[in-house]
Amino acid sequence: MEEKSASSKISTEDIMKTDMGLILQSRELYQYILDTSVYPNEAELLKDLRKITSTQPRNHMLCAADVGPLLSILLKLVNAKKTIEIGVYTGYSLLLTALSLPKDGKIIAIDPDREMFELGLPIIKKAGVEHKVEFINSPALPFLDKLLENPKNEGSFDSAFVDADKVNNMNYHERLVKLVRVGGIILYDNTLWGGTVAWKDDFALDNRMKTIRAAVIELNKYLASDNRCQVSQVPLGDGLTICMRRY
Ligand code: SAM
Ligand code: CA
Repeated sequence: MEEKSASSKISTEDIMKTDMGLILQSRELYQYILDTSVYPNEAELLKDLRKITSTQPRNHMLCAADVGPLLSILLKLVNAKKTIEIGVYTGYSLLLTALSLPKDGKIIAIDPDREMFELGLPIIKKAGVEHKVEFINSPALPFLDKLLENPKNEGSFDSAFVDADKVNNMNYHERLVKLVRVGGIILYDNTLWGGTVAWKDDFALDNRMKTIRAAVIELNKYLASDNRCQVSQVPLGDGLTICMRRY
């Protein structure tokens, strides 16, 4: 691909808000999946959260609706009770997780942006699941390191959902593989990064996209060779990688 001028470089918004980032063969096929099986089963409060987030300038960050049902099924399959969420935003995946855990379930939800979390908080309260959420207003890395200072936290989580600053995913993985129990799952969102991971080069992308694409490619390669986990890269939403800790 030819080098483009700086003003015409492709940004995250270009990819995520248009059909450029579509993983399926057509918009119609994606819409079919949403209309047939996703939206009819999406909880009303999740729809409300989607609606209030749609007014926000960075609303492309919201978790893809088709990731929701798989996330919920996986949490139930592993009997998740204690989970970590890295990257909360307005709380779509957080609410979905809270609704999927048992009454005494617990989610440690980490994000340095409290304002966006508070935008969605009234809906989490309305759903009656606020008691399951412990919001940590911090970047994730120092907090995970703090958790690991106490050996009791090792292997104490059933699952983790990672959807934050992609450049830190490898750092998160090293910590999460210790914090999540054997048989538990670590989920990484956006692992196909609008399909750009398969592009031959990154000349058309803006600098931020280039950096994130490189980080996602590095993560995908690493996860595929990490014997501690069994990995499945699922082409739904913007790519969801499921890692089950083997030992
Ligand atoms: N999981 C959310 C959902 O499903 O709607 C979307 C999360 S959004 C894509 C990414 C979030 O990661 C933003 O709210 C941002 O503030 C947060 N973030 C950025 N850097 C972070 C860090 N170092 N640690 C934790 N969260 C971070
Ligand atoms: Ca995401």
